[in-house]
Amino acid sequence: MGDYNYLREIEGKTAHDPYGNMSFRTSAKRCVWVPSPVIVGAGPSGLAAAACLKEKGVPSLVLERSNCIASLWQLKTYDRLKLHLPKQFCELPHMSFPQDFPTYPTKQQFIQYLEDYAKRFEIKPVFNQSVVSAEFDENLGFWRVRTAPPGEVEYVCRWLIVATGENAEAVVPAIEGAEEFEGAVVHTSGYKSGEVYKGKKVLVVGCGNSGMEVCLDLCNHNATPSLVVRDTVHILPREMLGRSTFGLSMCLLKWLPTCLVDRFLLAVTRLMLGDTARFGLDRPQVGPLELKNVSGKTPVLDVGTLDKIKSGDIEIRPGIRRLLRHQMVEFVDGRQENYDAIILATGYKSNVPSWLKESDMFSEKDGLPKRPFPNGWKGKCGLYAVGFTKRGLLGASIDAQNIADDIQSCWRAEAKQLSAISWPHFLQKYV
Ligand SMILES: Cc1cc2nc3c(=O)[nH]c(=O)nc-3n(C[C@H](O)[C@H](O)[C@H](O)COP(=O)(O)OP(=O)(O)OC[C@H]3O[C@@H](n4cnc5c(N)ncnc54)[C@H](O)[C@@H]3O)c2cc1C
Repeated sequence: MGDYNYLREIEGKTAHDPYGNMSFRTSAKRCVWVPSPVIVGAGPSGLAAAACLKEKGVPSLVLERSNCIASLWQLKTYDRLKLHLPKQFCELPHMSFPQDFPTYPTKQQFIQYLEDYAKRFEIKPVFNQSVVSAEFDENLGFWRVRTAPPGEVEYVCRWLIVATGENAEAVVPAIEGAEEFEGAVVHTSGYKSGEVYKGKKVLVVGCGNSGMEVCLDLCNHNATPSLVVRDTVHILPREMLGRSTFGLSMCLLKWLPTCLVDRFLLAVTRLMLGDTARFGLDRPQVGPLELKNVSGKTPVLDVGTLDKIKSGDIEIRPGIRRLLRHQMVEFVDGRQENYDAIILATGYKSNVPSWLKESDMFSEKDGLPKRPFPNGWKGKCGLYAVGFTKRGLLGASIDAQNIADDIQSCWRAEAKQLSAISWPHFLQKYV
C-alpha cells in the first residue's frame, strides 16, 4: 500500500486510516476506498462474518446505522426476552457462551456475549452509517456503497456482505380507522414491559413467539390482554421428554424424515398441551417442521402463555375489521370492544430492496435471497448475504463461515493486485 504516502500530497484532500481504508473528499461527499470486504449491519450476522474473515486473516469494514452493535437486541426488544432456542444453537462461530450462562440466556446476557465477541475479534463497526444505496459499478468493477447524510460517505469496495437482517423494519399493517382510535398503538419493537399497562385492557395482534410472550408479560403485570389470532398456528412446548423441543427435533431429523418427526412432535404436544383448537388456536394442516421448510413460519415455543389462555386470563379474538372512535375495536365477527392500547406483534421485514440496486440475488418482494438455504449466501460480483436463512443464529453462522472461506480463496491474490493500483488517481478519475 505504498500509495498511502502519496495521498497526503494531494493538497490535503485525501487521508488514510490504520485499517488500510483510504479516503478523499469531493465537493459534496467523502469517498473511501476499502481494500477489504464491506459488511452492512453490525447485528449477530455481521459480527459473525467479520469474525470468520478475521480468523482467516481477512480484515473487514462494518457499517452500522445505529450507534451500537446488535441494535435489534439492544433497542427493539422487550425486557423479559430470553433466547428462544437453547444456547448451543445460538452461539456464533469460534466462541462459545460462558459455561455459567443458563440454557436460555437472557437478552442482557446475549448482548454481553455479543459485546465480548466483538471485542475478542477486534470488530469496531463504524456507527451512524445508514446505507442508502449500494450498486455494482460495471465500469469501475467495484461496489459503490453510499451512506445517508449528514456525513454522507461513498465506500468503494470489491466485496459487499449484506448483513442487515430479516428483521430490519417493523411491519405495521394498515388498519381501517386507525386515525380514529384514541388509545396507544405500539409495535412490539417499541414494547419494553407490561408495567405501563397495569390495570389496562390491551389487544395484542399476532400470535407468533413475540405476541404470545408479550401477552404473558402483560398478565404478569396485572394487565388484561386479548390476543388476535387470524391464522392457524403450531404451538409446541419449549421442552419435551427432558430435552429442548428444538434440540430433540434436530436429533430426530438425522434419522427420520420430516413428516415422521412432525407426527412425533404433534403426538407428544397433544399429550402435554391438549387440543389447542379447543382454546381457539387451530393447527395448520401441515406439520410444524414441514411448514417451517416450505414457508419459513416458525412454530411458537410455549413458555407459559397457553396456561393463561386456558385459564381465561388471556382471551382469543378473531381478526380486526376496523378501529372506531374513542378506543373501540370492531372484530370481523361484528363484536365491538374497548381497549386502552393495541400492541402489534406483526413482525418484521428485510429492508434490502430499499437500498441494494441489484435484482439477481435478492427478491424485490420480500428482500430475501431467491435461492433457498443453504445456497442463498453467494451472489455475483463479490456480493454475499449472511443471516437471511430463516434459521436464526445457526443459519447466520453457517453463512458466515461459507462467506469467509469463499473470500479467503481470492483475497490474497486480489489484494495484491488492488494494492498495485494508484488509488487516488483511479478514484478521482472515476468516482
Ligand atoms: C424477539 C426476537 C427473538 C429472537 N430470538 C432468537 C433466538 O432465540 N435464536 C435465534 O437463533 N434467533 C432469534 N431471533 C432471530 C433474530 O433475528 C436473530 O437472532 C438475529 O438478531 C439476527 O441477526 P442479524 O444480524 O441477521 O440481524 P439483526 O440483529 O436485525 O441485525 C442487523 C443490523 O443491521 C443494521 N442495519 C439494517 N439496515 C441497515 C442499513 N441500511 N445500513 C446500516 N445498517 C443497517 C441494523 O441496525 C442491525 O443492527 C429472534 C428475533 C427476535 C425479533
